[in-house]
Amino acid sequence: MIQNAQILFPVNVPAPFDYAVPAGISVSAGDFVFAPIGKQIKLGVVWSVGQAEAGRELKEIVQVKAAKPLSGDLLKFLSWTASYNVGSLGQVLRMVMRNYKALDPSPIVTLYMPTENPPKNLTPARRAALREGGPFPARASEIAARAGMSPGVVKGMVKAGAMQAIEGPVDAPFDIPNPDLLGKELTTAQSEAALDLAAQVRRGDFNVSLLDGVTGSGKTEVYFEAVTEALRRGQQVLVLVPEIALTQAGLSRFKDRFGAEPAAWHSQMGEAPRRRVWREVAQGRAKLVVGARSALYLPFPNLGLIVVDEEHDTSYKQEEGIIYNARDMAVVRGKISGHAVVLASATPSLESLHNARSGKFAHIVLPERPGAITLPDIGLIDLKEHQPEKGDFLSPPLLQSVSEVLGRREQAMLYLNRRGYAPLIICRSCGEKLKSPDTDSWLVQHKRTGRAMCHLTGFSMPMPRRCPECEAEDSLTPVGPGVERVAEEAMKHFPDAKIEVFSSDTAGNPAEIAARLKRMEEGQIDILVGTQMVVKGHNFPKLTFVGVVDGDLGLAGGDPRAGERTYQTLVQVAGRAGRADKPGHALIQTHQPEHEALVALAAGDRDMFIGMELAMREMLGLPPFGRLAAVIISGPELAKVKSLAEKFARLAPRTEGVEILGPSEAPIGRLRGCFRWRLFIQAEPQVNLSRYMAVWKAKLRPPSKYKIQIDIDPQNFM
Ligand SMILES: [Zn+2]
Repeated sequence: MIQNAQILFPVNVPAPFDYAVPAGISVSAGDFVFAPIGKQIKLGVVWSVGQAEAGRELKEIVQVKAAKPLSGDLLKFLSWTASYNVGSLGQVLRMVMRNYKALDPSPIVTLYMPTENPPKNLTPARRAALREGGPFPARASEIAARAGMSPGVVKGMVKAGAMQAIEGPVDAPFDIPNPDLLGKELTTAQSEAALDLAAQVRRGDFNVSLLDGVTGSGKTEVYFEAVTEALRRGQQVLVLVPEIALTQAGLSRFKDRFGAEPAAWHSQMGEAPRRRVWREVAQGRAKLVVGARSALYLPFPNLGLIVVDEEHDTSYKQEEGIIYNARDMAVVRGKISGHAVVLASATPSLESLHNARSGKFAHIVLPERPGAITLPDIGLIDLKEHQPEKGDFLSPPLLQSVSEVLGRREQAMLYLNRRGYAPLIICRSCGEKLKSPDTDSWLVQHKRTGRAMCHLTGFSMPMPRRCPECEAEDSLTPVGPGVERVAEEAMKHFPDAKIEVFSSDTAGNPAEIAARLKRMEEGQIDILVGTQMVVKGHNFPKLTFVGVVDGDLGLAGGDPRAGERTYQTLVQVAGRAGRADKPGHALIQTHQPEHEALVALAAGDRDMFIGMELAMREMLGLPPFGRLAAVIISGPELAKVKSLAEKFARLAPRTEGVEILGPSEAPIGRLRGCFRWRLFIQAEPQVNLSRYMAVWKAKLRPPSKYKIQIDIDPQNFM
């Protein structure tokens, strides 16, 4: 009897291929193996093992790679990810196997550490290496970087008897987090919630809890108790956070609580640190991992808890390659491996709230901020009644509030989620608007850098002096506000105030971000003008007023979650104002003061908003009451994209309970030179939408350079 094995390669293929297992080789599911594909020998993963059909000629596996195999749970999770999101299984495997070298053990290199009795009369540089070069043992280059000297100094210290060289693995182990350190003292409500969460972990089976508490209610401290419980059980813990929160300040909360820096995982990491995390996770030695969404695809052998912090955050949705929502996939991973999952948020998504109300998730509510500080007073400014001065964007009531706050020597924040100076540049002579060269989007003026930028593609060029259309000089005029322009306007009204802009353009490196946050915390900034970047978890004790420049931003467009998003963002923005002993106040400028999301905000009535929004979704059959998928058809020629979209629409399988909307041109009709058309599919809850979409997708193979992309439960409607 000949054995065969199904081998999956980390390339764009839908399924594993069959191979013969040659005599003398034994393989099991999860093993890494080399096998021929086309004319090459490639590294793949054994997906399953079976008996070969008689008489079938199969190529043979060449070699088994000496590496820790992927676990059965992980293989199941990858299969699930691919089939739910209607993606290629091989591409899902690639998310795990991005870095082949990580499969090899950590290379052995020369490491340095201080000797037991270093000589007394050392040079200042050598003393600094001992004092600041740690933790030891470390490579000469690491010690040198930490202590600010050249690696030669470290090597020279060996001769002098101050350092010794040893051979060791290049990956330093992560410090072991200590669950028995004392955390912050909890209020009664927090202790009760913490006990509930810890009990969920202790059950040792799959369960999901929604930890629901307003900004400043101590959510983090509470879920730390769940982390503690899993660590005590000897299990690994993964805490997912939005990428933007993966700052040193964000990580130090973990270090403060558990006495050890967690293993961090995010998209900006270099390859070497990435390999280190992968290897240490795979060996089960990295106990606490804090990461962005892709950390979910690390090879944990012994995962006991996943926490998804800020579970409502849109950055959990991956929009390129395999399109998936890490929040939902975290729940799936918990289900497959049989452990607890905690979703935490100050403004939970309606889907999670619905699951909590229907009993699918445990609902753990933190009712109030410690010390009974409530959310700030929120007021609306009707811009039709209170118009800013001509050409300006800040209305008299908003300016009045800022002025009062400054008079009390407190801080104000102006929020506008728009980078740059002006979102549109128009020629006064001919009316031309400056457009991105290969994308349907307007160029955004950035005054600080003197450039015109496309925020979708990153294209930028120096701000032209002449109109590219009619060549009129100095005729290009900024239209609408960005944060730079709001700061300029604030300077006009408050010339003595210290005003700073905080957005991803101006943020700078982590050290500069930390410095700016510190200046704000210490009260050295009077008015902070910021984008989304200011929203996440910074604590500014003297900030008592938040002005939202454009409360309508985000309400336009075809996104069924527009109201929900606006509500969530503005609650988080307003929540920055007032902490500790100073009450806060927020004002929102709007043209639609009657919009339900804004009315509910001003009334401070979340239940009213949730009730209205859920009723509307139920009536329209939108998630969580129905299911939604999107299809984007794209390619280099408009006419072909259109006919491909029409052809694909005609091929839709006929099924009860499925409605197809479109095709029509996408709101961004051209992106990086590719034209885009789209379809929406709305289905009743009993329809298996993933399977439906997979059957449909298989009916049409797009020509090369053309793509048909499926997005299950789309979050992006552009
Ligand atoms: Zn012009």
